[in-house]
Amino acid sequence: MATLLRNEPCPACGKRHHFTTTQGGVREGKEYAYVCPETGGRSRLRPHSDGENVGYAPFGAVVLRPQGTEPSSPAVSAVTEAAAD
Ligand SMILES: [Zn+2]
Repeated sequence: MATLLRNEPCPACGKRHHFTTTQGGVREGKEYAYVCPETGGRSRLRPHSDGENVGYAPFGAVVLRPQGTEPSSPAVSAVTEAAAD
């Protein structure tokens, strides 16, 4: 089970991305670290709503990691973790 946050504004690039986590879910107000696929830079996101539970995250969804853990490469980790879930 993955958790998906659809079309959330990205503070790093100003566009919207689908964000996902593969463990722990997405909780409103909690801070997550991720790597923006547009800028390649690390950023932080504090979702304005809880994520929805989905069977599989969409291809290319940006993987969120609860604050305090290191984000890895976005495209690779998104595919790998979605497949492993
Ligand atoms: Zn972005």
